[in-house]
Amino acid sequence: MKTLALIALLLSLSTFANLHQAPPSLNLGRDALGVFVDFKTAHSVLSYDISKRKLTASTKIKFIQESNGKPIFDLVETPTKIMINGKEVSSQTTSLDGVSTVRYLDRTLQAGAHELVIENEITSNLSWSSDYVRSAFWMSDLSDRQYLEQYLPTNLEFDQYENNFEIKILNSEVEHVLYTNGEVTELERNHWQVKYPATFTASSLFYHLSKKGLKDELKKVYKSIDGREIPVTVYSNQSVTRFMNKALSVLAELEKDYGPWPHPQLIIYGAGSGGMEYCGATITSFSALGHELIHSYFARGIMPAHGNSGWVDEAIASWRDSGYKSYSTFSLSKTDMASHSTYKRTTDRRAYTKGMKFIGHLNLKFSKQESFKVFLKNFFSERKFRPFKTHEFQKAIENYYNVSLDDEFNKYIYGKNGIDKEDTTPVENIYHVQLTSKQLRDLL
Ligand SMILES: [Zn+2]
Repeated sequence: MKTLALIALLLSLSTFANLHQAPPSLNLGRDALGVFVDFKTAHSVLSYDISKRKLTASTKIKFIQESNGKPIFDLVETPTKIMINGKEVSSQTTSLDGVSTVRYLDRTLQAGAHELVIENEITSNLSWSSDYVRSAFWMSDLSDRQYLEQYLPTNLEFDQYENNFEIKILNSEVEHVLYTNGEVTELERNHWQVKYPATFTASSLFYHLSKKGLKDELKKVYKSIDGREIPVTVYSNQSVTRFMNKALSVLAELEKDYGPWPHPQLIIYGAGSGGMEYCGATITSFSALGHELIHSYFARGIMPAHGNSGWVDEAIASWRDSGYKSYSTFSLSKTDMASHSTYKRTTDRRAYTKGMKFIGHLNLKFSKQESFKVFLKNFFSERKFRPFKTHEFQKAIENYYNVSLDDEFNKYIYGKNGIDKEDTTPVENIYHVQLTSKQLRDLL
């Protein structure tokens, strides 16, 4: 009873205790239960050994478990060593309702606070040269298990926790440069400490390490409408000025529509192809820049709690791409883009087209009052940095306009009246082109 009271106290004190957004526990067979947990902090030491061409990570995680069971987290690569509360333990992977996979500790733990240490080797998106290394934590929301779990142990997207990195490059005389969306302290040459905000989820973190001088770099300060000075960094093999000028004009546009830029900085890697959003950072082509920047409000400002709410931000970003058009019901399609398994972790691609038109339809529906952008601004400021689910998005619109949208959501989003057949396979979005592993490595 005492422990439970303590946990209740700890949970009530915590701003980012998101277990209410976690999926249901998993039956692991033989009476074993897999339980989702609440990460409080993670601290990783990343060591790049140039001579051995090896990147190792050691991560200490403090987490709270609300009920007895085997704690669930994720890491795609098999850990080399795991300790729980000072004792060595093994891990297993299991299917998440056939739509994804997670890792869990092969030991039943009591409810309470625990300390987990995981060691693993990182091999994705790394390129070794004789005297330097290029490394990035590229992510994607279109393929499964493509967030931080590709590189480091993390929780699923519903959870938010403070992450700290210590990064060391061993056996290299070459100066490296680190682009990342945390608070960076350079301890000495090729040795950094980075602190990421407690609002971050598995999909928030931008991380790119390279040899200094390999790409052009331009830094400017953007004066936010709230008075803050926002450092903007652009680096690219292409024209950094072109990216910078466009970024500054999009920032002004977005602040006018949705309020102050929600992050302490903006980092833009102007890559030749690809596009992915992070909190106040993006890797993007020039044409996708506006699309990726609005994602710092919708996707990495208001954040999806799981795959079923991922359509919202792509629909909104694509609605901006379309020039904020209105659509009548004749343009809409019946879909079930938010009715996948609650365990699904990826975004339904119909969001870019059918989801976009649905948002454009809401714009038409409420156009007598005002642009739907006004609601979106309000939803953004109320819901910022608190992962949400589709039903909460619906409820927020209903409350704002004092209407019921059950018919619209049931028909066009939840698939309760059946779904319209796809004419063709869903088209790939021009802004989020799926890249091969070679293309991803080439972007290092
Ligand atoms: Zn997008």
